[in-house]
Amino acid sequence: MRTSIATVSLSGSLTEKLTAAARAGFDGVEIFENDLLAAPLAPEEIRARCADLGLTVDLYQPLRDIEAVPAEVFARNLRRARHKFELMRRLGADTVLVCSSVDPSAVDDDALAAGHLSELADLAADFGIRVAYEALAWGRHVSTYDHAWRIVEAAGHPALGTCLDSFHILSRGCDPRGIEDIPGEKIFFLQLADAPLPAMDVLQWSRHHRCFPGQGGLDVAGLVRHVLRTGYDGPLSLEVFNDVFRQSEAGATAVDARRSLLMLQEEAGVAGPPAPVVPTGFAFAELLTPDAEPLAALLGALGFARTARHRGKPVDLWQQGEARILVNTGAAVRRDGTRLAAVGLESPDPAGAARRAEALLAPVLPRRRAPGDAPLDAVAAPDGTELFFCGTRPGGWRADFEDVEHAPAATDVRHIDHLALTQPWHHFDEAALFHRSVLGLRAEDSVDVADPYGLLRSRAVSNADGSVRIALTVGAAPTDDTVHAQHIALATDDVVAAARRFRDAGGPLLPIPANYYDDLAARHAFADGELDTYRELGILYDRDEHGALRHCYTRTIGGVFFELLQRDSAHRGYGARNAPVRLAAQHAAQTHAGG
Ligand code: MG
Ligand code: MG
Repeated sequence: MRTSIATVSLSGSLTEKLTAAARAGFDGVEIFENDLLAAPLAPEEIRARCADLGLTVDLYQPLRDIEAVPAEVFARNLRRARHKFELMRRLGADTVLVCSSVDPSAVDDDALAAGHLSELADLAADFGIRVAYEALAWGRHVSTYDHAWRIVEAAGHPALGTCLDSFHILSRGCDPRGIEDIPGEKIFFLQLADAPLPAMDVLQWSRHHRCFPGQGGLDVAGLVRHVLRTGYDGPLSLEVFNDVFRQSEAGATAVDARRSLLMLQEEAGVAGPPAPVVPTGFAFAELLTPDAEPLAALLGALGFARTARHRGKPVDLWQQGEARILVNTGAAVRRDGTRLAAVGLESPDPAGAARRAEALLAPVLPRRRAPGDAPLDAVAAPDGTELFFCGTRPGGWRADFEDVEHAPAATDVRHIDHLALTQPWHHFDEAALFHRSVLGLRAEDSVDVADPYGLLRSRAVSNADGSVRIALTVGAAPTDDTVHAQHIALATDDVVAAARRFRDAGGPLLPIPANYYDDLAARHAFADGELDTYRELGILYDRDEHGALRHCYTRTIGGVFFELLQRDSAHRGYGARNAPVRLAAQHAAQTHAGG
């Protein structure tokens, strides 16, 4: 299907918006009146710019407060409309959006509304323009799609149809099945937006908190299925009012937007990218660091052994159980920074995984980083993390490494339990949609975590058996402090033994305040001495109906720390309840470290 996006959904000047929409592969745009008013270009120049970019102008919006008003007001409205129709002709736009009136002088009279809209459509038809009438959720007398359709039907004018907007329909809890009673050729336009499910005034909700389909809690795909059954063949168009998008770089937002429409089409059963290839495990996590020494000491204390070295590059493989950490000192590294830069995902079909990623607009990386390397399919996640799709057979990336002599690793750590990736400010919803759509992972609910200096949002994505878990987190404000670091959580069957060996080997555990343990004693029953052990080692504890989670943290190196984690097999959490204590402890540790 053709795809379109409203210029109001993107940031920047009109030219920047149009360029971003075209680059992301949209077929057309809705031009929002304020974007046109603020543009230095004449309507003809905008039209030419769109044509150069391969974009059609699918809609001009909006005309407001037109219908069911006193006669003298309506006469003024028609004059205003004529100006706009002349402008639209210069712009090359053939459909205008008319929102249901919010004017206090509007009267509750469907026959009058139908008469006025019919007169407006007469005038529009003289210009070759169609009028799409949309019920705003907060319209004064017309606020539901079926009501707007009854008025359009009563007017019976060929140049008058309705515009459906998923936000206005689903935000009011209207039943979208009634859409199928509208003839498809009378649905002149379809605007799509999702939104989280909060309780707030619907106008505020609409103007500030809409998001792209799949990023909120509304069943947009279900609504689209109803619309398609009517025979509607216009574009799927995104109209998203969101304060964050208004501040974000338009190019990235446009890509995020089009990815959401590609996913929506898959979910609505229209068309879609190649089927997802869900990863089956972590092959490795790769850390970049300017100085391998502190990491080597930490990994050694955790019981890892340096088992192999890359044949051509300064990259060491550290291994314990099935947990594999690459330490790379060769790549260009920010001065401050040890960071988690790449993730190897075990995939039953690496080439298929890469094809889906590419179809969903993920930047594809070169298959070889150096001429001698084994070829690997890889893409970049929105936060810049490189995701490698590694086959499940031996060889592959491991063939680039040569075994080195080493003492045996400990046996405390079994595998990587999860990776926590901090997302750039403004890109949290994009990251969740990316991991869900590109990797076929399931997204869990977003949780808010209080930090001493703000609020963190966290959302986990995982595969069905939990062998791949990624926690996506973002702070409430742009920040570059190292507390909001990435981490690698290592699964162990005995966190007490693992923490002891780490501490006894000189590893720095994150100290946890005594008050936390007093509270734990009040919340849960423990065996004799159990809590004292946790207190001694800084082990945090959580329990739900599925079992317990015990975990502790190392100090942070650059932008990365490690977690030792013992989960009862049915426990699917990440210790969100303990996160405020952990964050406060990390802030305190950072302060004591003098930076
Ligand atoms: Mg709308
Ligand atoms: Mg964690």
